Amino acid sequence: MSSQNVIEKPIKVSQPASNKSSEGLKVGIIGGGLMGMTLAYKVSELNASVKVIERESQKGGLSTHYDFGNFVWDKFYHVIVPTDGSLIGLIKEIGLEDQLNWSRSFTGYHANKKSHSLNSPIEFLLFPLLNLWDKARLVFTIFYGSKIENWRKLENIKVKDWLIKMGGKKNFHKFWEPLLLAKLGENYKRVSAVFIWTYIRRLFKSREHPVEKDFMGYVTGGYKTVFDRIEELLVKNNSTILLNRAVKSIKPAEGGGIEVTYDDTTEHFDKVIFTAPVNVLQQVTSPELCEVKMNAQPIEYLGVVCLVLITKKQLCPFYVLNMGDVTSPFTGVIGMSTIVDTKQTAGEYMTYFPKYIPANHEYWKMSDQEIEQIFLNGIKDLYPELKEDDIVGVHINRAFKVQPLQVLNYSSIIPKIETKHPDFFVLNTSQFVNDSVNNNIVVGHVNSFVEQFASELTTKSVNTN
Ligand SMILES: Cc1cc2nc3c(=O)[nH]c(=O)nc-3n(C[C@H](O)[C@H](O)[C@H](O)COP(=O)(O)OP(=O)(O)OC[C@H]3O[C@@H](n4cnc5c(N)ncnc54)[C@H](O)[C@@H]3O)c2cc1C
Repeated sequence: MSSQNVIEKPIKVSQPASNKSSEGLKVGIIGGGLMGMTLAYKVSELNASVKVIERESQKGGLSTHYDFGNFVWDKFYHVIVPTDGSLIGLIKEIGLEDQLNWSRSFTGYHANKKSHSLNSPIEFLLFPLLNLWDKARLVFTIFYGSKIENWRKLENIKVKDWLIKMGGKKNFHKFWEPLLLAKLGENYKRVSAVFIWTYIRRLFKSREHPVEKDFMGYVTGGYKTVFDRIEELLVKNNSTILLNRAVKSIKPAEGGGIEVTYDDTTEHFDKVIFTAPVNVLQQVTSPELCEVKMNAQPIEYLGVVCLVLITKKQLCPFYVLNMGDVTSPFTGVIGMSTIVDTKQTAGEYMTYFPKYIPANHEYWKMSDQEIEQIFLNGIKDLYPELKEDDIVGVHINRAFKVQPLQVLNYSSIIPKIETKHPDFFVLNTSQFVNDSVNNNIVVGHVNSFVEQFASELTTKSVNTN
């Protein structure tokens, strides 16, 4: 992971905080999402005993699993792309390489009541919404965007202005604007060009590898397999996970180390690493431990409301069908079963219909039944051939804070986290300024941190021996 996209770890330990050697150090990790669980595994390998404290009843955070009736799969759609080096590295390291499956992925674009396949140069040439000149400019925009390394110069340009400059007005209004509206609503007008650059870059990077071109991956059993394996390894390393425990306070302990209170229990740790969101950090930490400097301009987050339709037949032939139709109630269609073998899902087909929305969107106030009705109407418009009999299950899942809105000069408004105690560390997704939140960057972030953390432990051992 490049260190450009995160603040450097603010803590530098010069003095040992307690007189223990690294052997047998007790480390508390707050949050059992992928960040906390990966960290727990890596730190437990450093000869420390780790306890993960997680608020929910399941491990995994946003990557957790969900019971769809006849099978269990990821609550929200997740795929691995061939260039996810850090994530694939973790999967190999925990012995799941042989459970990594790859499938060809297909992309579509829906506009004017028709879904267009965009998976070969010929299909692209036949795409009816743009003429040849516009297509050439679209290719240029994607190619040029993917080559940009210095994302900071895109931070003060609106995404609309940048896309028009690169590809012209027609490309913008016919191709990009419907996508931006579907993804961000009217908010897109305030978003910087970094937003589209992160998408272009990820897309293009996955096409750089000719052998694995257009392939996407998953682990047999979904992310549950990954979390279950990490748990097994933690147990072997004398470490544990506590579920259903919301951390209420984190304070410096007298004589060194940190005290964490969850439920009615207060537990002492030699070191604590916090991985939950910043708003929780502010609620549970004392000023002697950490200061969060918020900018006057608050960060706005997009959340997601996602309908998952389980059917007896394949609904969508694409992994992603981008909705260029702004009246659609969902942002896109994710044909998960084009990637995941139906042997994994009891012979049934999974299609996710996500809608990314800001905190003030009306969907948050609606019941699941109301959302289901709105989305099902949209689904029936899109797939009139879908019969009631084909539907095995309908599930609504929500996550309130998923992706910060990358407004102009976003990196200058992210909260600055300053940890003030040598035994307290913060590692979370709030500091990602030049990437979408994804599991590859999460694992890369953990890897960089652990390198530093390991050397601190070694230094301590030397100091104290
Ligand atoms: C719809 C959707 C689709 C996605 N698709 C992909 C994809 O295809 N590929 C990809 O790589 N990534 C994808 N992601 C992103 C991926 O899910 C995230 O990168 C990842 O889950 C972030 O992990 P995390 O541990 O940093 O955060 P989280 O998963 O948010 O974990 C934080 C944890 O802290 C816990 N917590 C909070 N407060 C407390 C407290 N007081 N005490 C104890 N615990 C607490 C929470 O319960 C949670 O488990 C997707 C996400 C969504 C929502």
